[in-house]
Amino acid sequence: MPYLYETHLHTSQTSACGESRGREYIRGYKQLGYTGIIVTDHFYKGNCTVSRSLPWREFVNQFCRGFEDARNEGERQGLDVFFSWEETFDDDDYLIYGLGKDWLMEHPEAAHWSRKEQYRAVREAGGCVVQAHPFRQHYYIHSITLSPALVDGVEAANAGNHDQSFDALALRYAKKLGLPVTAGSDIHETGQLAAGDVFGVYLNKKMKTIADYVAAIKGNAIADLKMSPGRCDSRGSATVSLPVKILDADERDTGQDLWNFLKD
Ligand SMILES: [Zn+2]
Ligand SMILES: [Zn+2]
Repeated sequence: MPYLYETHLHTSQTSACGESRGREYIRGYKQLGYTGIIVTDHFYKGNCTVSRSLPWREFVNQFCRGFEDARNEGERQGLDVFFSWEETFDDDDYLIYGLGKDWLMEHPEAAHWSRKEQYRAVREAGGCVVQAHPFRQHYYIHSITLSPALVDGVEAANAGNHDQSFDALALRYAKKLGLPVTAGSDIHETGQLAAGDVFGVYLNKKMKTIADYVAAIKGNAIADLKMSPGRCDSRGSATVSLPVKILDADERDTGQDLWNFLKD
């Protein structure tokens, strides 16, 4: 029996755009048959509630509040809750899986990583990096930045994208790179759960720790994606109206054209 996991979730304690507390998600996910959820609040350079002027250890303590609230309630109700985070660069976002609070405590430099430093450090520590909704276009996004050499996977299906052609394009991009794909809700409030508009991944093995998810991504062992029907259907016409930058492994703009890049 496959196990279902949410891979992209925000809490109001830690994400400024989050509207529901960590604990409030637990019952809904249980009712929908999820085995667990991964909390991915907005990190230091993202839309985070925690003051950047705090000493690092206090920043980390407060950053973990939404996760800890969800985990404690998860323990009460029997839903597994795992810690991760989402970091933002220009308008590009990355889900960082595999590193915990203890690791963060010892690594204040994580607040100021470049994409390249992030990829190296996260992998050295046994984690992985997944680019979130790489083709999202929305009023607050001014450009699309792709860093194909600095990720382990691509979030193909994101329930927070209002246009599913963004997801079709993300799937096409991941296939071009030969990278594993994930699906996640990017959920910010429990109303999305009540509407059943939630995504996730199916794994054949139950996760004991977040390292199991990292292994599933690196081993290309995600059994299936939970998403709405036709979500990544590439027959939809994807239009990209924003400037696109495709970076090399040193984060230099390669100047490549997206459509040429995606060509077989
Ligand atoms: Zn958000
Ligand atoms: Zn997010």
